[in-house]
Amino acid sequence: MRAFNFSAGPATLPLEVITQVQEELPNWRGTGMSVMELSHRSPEFAGILSEAELDLRELLSLPDHYRVLFCQEGASAHWDMIPLNLLQGNTNADYIESGYWSYRAIEEGRRYCNVNIAASNRIDQFTAIPDQSEWRLNPKAAYVHYCSNETIHGLEFFWTPDVGKVPLVVDMSSHFLSRPMDITPFGMIYAGAQKNIGPAGLSIVIIRDDLLKPAAARTPFLMNYHDQVHAHSMLNTPPTFTIWVAGLVFQWIKRHGGLSAMAKANTQKSGLLYDFLDKSGFYRNPVKHSDRSHMNVPFFLREPSLEDAFLKESSAQGLKQLRGHAVVGGMRASIYNAMPLAGVEALVTFMADFERRYG
Ligand code: PMP
Repeated sequence: MRAFNFSAGPATLPLEVITQVQEELPNWRGTGMSVMELSHRSPEFAGILSEAELDLRELLSLPDHYRVLFCQEGASAHWDMIPLNLLQGNTNADYIESGYWSYRAIEEGRRYCNVNIAASNRIDQFTAIPDQSEWRLNPKAAYVHYCSNETIHGLEFFWTPDVGKVPLVVDMSSHFLSRPMDITPFGMIYAGAQKNIGPAGLSIVIIRDDLLKPAAARTPFLMNYHDQVHAHSMLNTPPTFTIWVAGLVFQWIKRHGGLSAMAKANTQKSGLLYDFLDKSGFYRNPVKHSDRSHMNVPFFLREPSLEDAFLKESSAQGLKQLRGHAVVGGMRASIYNAMPLAGVEALVTFMADFERRYG
């Protein structure tokens, strides 16, 4: 029996996709080979890549002046690639600090430029997104970087910052494709695959044409967006298997009603869990209600000594990988697109029962 897997990533994938991979793996479309064994230069793989891109473009209604890159690197690599490619001789960039992942991007950005932390919620222990009225943006910055869903602290932007003419760069790793989004305010979007896209080993970049200028001379060749676009994401051997599975996930999203259907289901699932948490005196979630992530729900037991029992018993009931990230502790339920409503219902039922027994 398959478990309900609440991991933040690598995360649960749609069962339909897992089954399709299983069925098609030994002999992909009559080639007598698996996708893992196809040359990345073959017409078959070219078809897989272009189909994945077209489906992604359709899901996002992506305008023609944006390019899509399938990158070998994890999302973290873009913390270096962004300054190397987008500074373009400028020495200043704005960063918003809203939690652990945006902080990591800041630390890395400091290697390359003067990082202006235009806003931070550190003083609130990352429990509320800084209001845009408090942002101190530099109109001459090369770009503004932020993370629109903080996977560890459980914060999500439900609004898009207005940063004027400065290119807006966003890490959407943990809520990419979770709801319809207008792409046009963004200069660049990046997202690691292992949450809503597919297996680990891939990140996706969406970048506006005007930002594709030659990168700084010292840029490692694989980290050059401009060259990678011109090489159709094949400056070297791309992660062919992961790209194939990502494409199957895009098709799964399309079959199941696209991004508006994902949004509806995600709102329902997260609503169920937050309502339960708020009614309980036994568990708590510290995030400001309007900023609570629909994807990653951290929660804490009022009595931390019960955590081990909670994890052991939930796991025995098929509710897996609920341990929170070491940075904040406690528990975390990641409920991405592929988590069925039944998984959240089972979690809430378990939590209520645990509370009855230990509360
Ligand atoms: N950004 C966010 C928002 C993340 O959640 C993660 C990983 N959990 C990363 C970046 C780093 O991703 P990777 O491990 O793919 O480099």
